[in-house]
Amino acid sequence: MRQDHRTLPFECRSCMHVWEEDYLVRLVDARDGTETEIWLQGGVPVPPPSSNVVCPRCGCQQTAMFPAGYLARHPELIPAESRPADDTPLRSPVPARNRWLPA
Ligand SMILES: [Zn+2]
Repeated sequence: MRQDHRTLPFECRSCMHVWEEDYLVRLVDARDGTETEIWLQGGVPVPPPSSNVVCPRCGCQQTAMFPAGYLARHPELIPAESRPADDTPLRSPVPARNRWLPA
């Protein structure tokens, strides 16, 4: 029996909340040679995750599931309150000019 830890990102279609859920996947070899996945959360078997996961913020079931590791490649999706603040001042790369004088 093999075990695989998977963290899957979800996004709520209603309130745009983004969160991750941790799963432990047990790969069990059946007698006929096929492999069965058993999904566990907190040691309890759960149905395989789908897009029917309930949003923890608003309770909506209109959620989207992303592949494991998706948030690591798209940090812009992580809510701002859980990210360290960026102290870089916002400056336009365009040089300032007096718009009332002809160029
Ligand atoms: Zn929601």
